[in-house]
Amino acid sequence: MALSHGEEEKVNDVSFALDDLSKKWKIDPIVRDVHLGKRTDIQDYTIKINQVTYHIPFLSGSSLFLLWDCLWPDCHNCCDKQGRLPLTSGDITNISKQLGYETKSSFLRNETYVATWDNDSTSDSNSPIITTLTMLNLKRKQSENETDNGHPLTCRFLDECGSCQLHPNKPGVCWLYPFFSWSQNEKNLVSVHASFQLTGDCPGFYLSKKMDDIMPTLIKYSEIIYNYTMNVNTTIREGFGKIDVINY
Ligand code: SF4
Ligand code: SF4
Repeated sequence: MALSHGEEEKVNDVSFALDDLSKKWKIDPIVRDVHLGKRTDIQDYTIKINQVTYHIPFLSGSSLFLLWDCLWPDCHNCCDKQGRLPLTSGDITNISKQLGYETKSSFLRNETYVATWDNDSTSDSNSPIITTLTMLNLKRKQSENETDNGHPLTCRFLDECGSCQLHPNKPGVCWLYPFFSWSQNEKNLVSVHASFQLTGDCPGFYLSKKMDDIMPTLIKYSEIIYNYTMNVNTTIREGFGKIDVINY
C-alpha cells in the first residue's frame, strides 16, 4: 500500500537519523529495517509487568525480539537529538525550583513555550486513534519557539561530560525515553501501555531470541512509565496540557 505524504516524510526522517547514527554506531540491517517499517513479519508481543503492558516487536520470520539497552555514558544521542520536552505539572514544580525561580509563572514565561503535535502511535490497527496533544515544553535552547517543535536540537542542559544538568529533576519524558506510553480505559479502569519510539535516534536497540536480558529494564521502567503516564493525565486535568482524541 502506498504511503501518504506524511508517512513518507516520517520514514525519510527516520532514515536520515539512522544514517547519522551509523557514523558512530553499527546498526544491524534488520534493526534498521524494523525502524523503516520494511519488515512484514512483525508481531506485537505483549507482556504485563506490574501496572504496565509492554508492546515489544517480535519478528516471527526469524523468531527475534527487538530489545533495548541504554549505552550511556558512551552515548547521549537522545539529548543531542531530542525533538521536544513536554512538561508535566510535577516537572514544572521541580524544574522551576532547580532553576531558581520564585514563581511558576516566571519560569513558564522564560523557560517554556506551548506546542501541539499529533501522536498516532497509540493505535491498534483495528481501531486507530490519533491523539493531538498540546503541552508546555521546556526550551532546549533559550530562543526555542513553536517553529522548533519536533525538530532535533541539542539540549542546553547537556554538559560536556554527557550528563544532564537537571538530573534527577530532568523532565519525565527524558526518564521515559526510548519508550513512549499511553493510557486506555479498560472496563472503567485506566490501563497503561508502552512501546519503543523508533525514531532512529537511539543506537541501543538489538535483536535477541529471548526476552531474558531486557526483563530487569522492563521491571525498572514499569514504575517510571506508570508514574509518568499518570502525571500526564494529571497535567491535562489541571489545565497544563490538553488532549484531543479522534477515532477513525
Ligand atoms: S540515545 Fe539511547 S542509548 Fe543513547 S543515551 Fe539515549 S537512550 Fe541511551
Ligand atoms: S533535559 Fe537533560 S536528559 Fe533531557 S534532553 Fe536535556 S540534557 Fe537530556
